[in-house]
Amino acid sequence: DLTNPAAESDAELAFEGALRPRSLSEFVGQSKARGQLQLLITAAGMQNRTPDHILLAGPPGLGKTTLAMIVAHETGKPLRLTSGPAIQHAGDLAAVLSSLTPGEVLFIDEIHRMARPAEEMLYLAMEDFRIDIMVGKGAGATSIPLELAPFTLVGATTRSGLLPNPLRDRFGFTAHLEFYDEPELQQVLHRTADMLGLDIDGRAVAEIAGRCRGTPRIANRLLRRVRDYALVHGGRADLETVQAALELYDVDALGLDRLDRSVMEGMLDRFAGGPVGLSTLAVSVGEEAETIESVVEPFLVRIGLITRTPRGRVATPAAWRHFGRTPSQHGST
Ligand code: ADP
Repeated sequence: DLTNPAAESDAELAFEGALRPRSLSEFVGQSKARGQLQLLITAAGMQNRTPDHILLAGPPGLGKTTLAMIVAHETGKPLRLTSGPAIQHAGDLAAVLSSLTPGEVLFIDEIHRMARPAEEMLYLAMEDFRIDIMVGKGAGATSIPLELAPFTLVGATTRSGLLPNPLRDRFGFTAHLEFYDEPELQQVLHRTADMLGLDIDGRAVAEIAGRCRGTPRIANRLLRRVRDYALVHGGRADLETVQAALELYDVDALGLDRLDRSVMEGMLDRFAGGPVGLSTLAVSVGEEAETIESVVEPFLVRIGLITRTPRGRVATPAAWRHFGRTPSQHGST
């Protein structure tokens, strides 16, 4: 799925890896978060200590992994990558934590999906750079304290609201990543085009920027398909090429993906435009409520197709227009 914000194949991961900015100054947009991170890293450097733990919150594809890599790069320390789903037992986490070198940056993606017992171990590790290892079972069980090297945890989550409070409170700093605006996406695209050696004009770049769901990962992915299209059809990467390539891949004028579309169509057709509760909507399209709330809804709200009301989600007049439907008499709008 071309506009699915999560990365998929190995080839895609390799492509993304090659495109990742290496330093904060190369990182496009998110100027608030960038300034805050810069201060945090510089201050820690001046005091010769590890930077505070950092929580990065926001939808997929906005640069959380990239920022974790940049923190490691800017502090000159190695980076260890893992994810919440990979940590199902406290022992999994103990193995990672006990092997960290001083100052190492530990990135835990999808940190809200870590197992509970591991979470509790992480509290102590974050606070005191220490863990307690349980040995033995039953009455004879004892815990042995283990000192850890000081490290910086960078946690990523699609929604900070999903984290238990004690975990959230142990981060020194939370950055909320926002969808990118079009000029920023154009900057990302020009940079990627340069790296790919692709000759593309400004109107073509602007068209992709308007149809990538405000997400650099999707912008880069669409650009790659445009490059393929230009290559195969022997044309330039101009506006017509972009339009043809995006039409071929079923990316609509707003860049909505299949899930966005099924959520919107479900809302309009089955719930007369709402108000409808998020979990009802999720069930009706066969998706997890968490995905709808953290990935789909933020973008649909941002582009003005949905509003949140105390009684549920409501489709806006722009949504009815975009999907070429007329509000029914019984609709509540
Ligand atoms: P996340 O971890 O939030 O899912 P990633 O850090 O993996 O997102 O970013 C996905 C892709 O988008 C990477 O290839 C990265 O290079 C690119 N990207 C993300 N943010 C930026 C940015 N601010 N500037 C340039 N490229 C970016």
